[in-house]
Amino acid sequence: MPPAHPFDDDKLREECGVFGVVGVTDASNFVALGLHALQHRGQEAGGIVTHDPETGFNQQRRMGLVRDNFTSASMMAQLPGTIGIGHVRYSTAGSKGQTALRDVQPFFGEFAMGGAAIAHNGNITNALSLRRELIERGSIFQSSSDSECIIHLMARSMGRTIPDRMEEALRKVEGAFSIVAMTRTKLIGCRDPLGVRPLVLGKIGDGWALASETCALDIIGSEFVREIEPGEMVVITQNGVASHFPFRPKRARFCIFEHVYFSRPDSILGGRSVYETRENIGRELAKEAPVDADLVCPVPDSGTPAAIGYSLQSGIPYAMGIIRNQYVGRTFIEPTESIRNMGVRLKLNVNRALIKGKRVILVDDSVVRGTTSRKIKEMILDAGAAEVHFRIASPPTAWPCFYGVDTPQREKLLAATMSEEEMRDHLGVDSIKFISIDGLYRAVGEAGGRDPKAPAYCDACFTGEYPVAPSDMIEQGFKAKTAAE
Ligand code: SF4
Repeated sequence: MPPAHPFDDDKLREECGVFGVVGVTDASNFVALGLHALQHRGQEAGGIVTHDPETGFNQQRRMGLVRDNFTSASMMAQLPGTIGIGHVRYSTAGSKGQTALRDVQPFFGEFAMGGAAIAHNGNITNALSLRRELIERGSIFQSSSDSECIIHLMARSMGRTIPDRMEEALRKVEGAFSIVAMTRTKLIGCRDPLGVRPLVLGKIGDGWALASETCALDIIGSEFVREIEPGEMVVITQNGVASHFPFRPKRARFCIFEHVYFSRPDSILGGRSVYETRENIGRELAKEAPVDADLVCPVPDSGTPAAIGYSLQSGIPYAMGIIRNQYVGRTFIEPTESIRNMGVRLKLNVNRALIKGKRVILVDDSVVRGTTSRKIKEMILDAGAAEVHFRIASPPTAWPCFYGVDTPQREKLLAATMSEEEMRDHLGVDSIKFISIDGLYRAVGEAGGRDPKAPAYCDACFTGEYPVAPSDMIEQGFKAKTAAE
């Protein structure tokens, strides 16, 4: 599968996908399929751990895509068992840039009562201080990943069972976590008390599955049962699902950007189709920011549902003004600088016959650095467009995310340093408008918009209001929003 968006360097990048299954023959095949469906959440590396009564725990980690690593019969033969978990990642914490194999999950730990493997989606915001403390007390870290702290905290716990130890470890952790873990016989799922990142439960035959998104249940033919609740831990055996809530309850703050961009459009989030939500965002955008034009074109593929919504609401025809080459992957553009410089043109081409002489509305999901928006604008004008209007399906991204999404430093975010008018000037377009934060909340089902006293979602990358203080980053000099901002 190609990267989820053709301009990976100018998008916020989700982070990780997790998947687990218990009670099925050849669990590793199911895990590989589930991870393949979650590949949009991380393309740099992946890993699978299984357990088989004869061979014990088996693990394989590889750099690259699931389809290139976890499809051969010989590889899958090394991962026997009826229980397994897996992880796909893009590096968010730990080593930046090129992922190191030692940072690839799932992580595995051997405890007095047996082994356990753990796969984490999210980011621990107090990992630095936890790590310092653990190292001082003798823990020897194998990776630079924040997630490894959980294994060491479990090792230090006096809990009698692995779920008990995990519970105790997670009570010390701050930030965002959706976790899938396993012992020899148990599949464990857990979400942080705010439920920032998604996690869903599925039923497959006599077995069960846990996944970051419902699209990963669909691919294995698993029935979607429900979402794991914020703050909930489930321990699943072949006898069924035991649920409890080990953390102090908090008001849920699910990541609103999952609705905008991260999750796949065919997934269901909070009982709502992601595709429909994105279409709603486009409709809201058309109401808030109308413009007289001839065509509504998406920046493919992530802008497509919002562009359809904009077109339906405005009555302006929808058209594929930009065509994406489905077969250009990251590997093709890596070898030389000159090829890399061709950048956007390698991946996208303008449908000239359609664009020439037209006033075009381009709908994209977000603007991060703005480098891609500029290039696309140039391509559209080169093709003879009369006017270019950007409509963006999220509010200006002005703050970094510290909850498991790779974001540039604040200074690199276009919206952190420029007003809307300055952005219009900088990008050289006829107009640019972003959906308002209230409009976005309405589109995700909050009819009254955003309640500033009790927002229903995490929206920190738009508002700078972090539901969990990013303590590691503050320690490293990050300046949180002041009352005057
Ligand atoms: S800061 Fe933005 S991307 Fe990060 S969890 Fe919150 S809404 Fe999602």
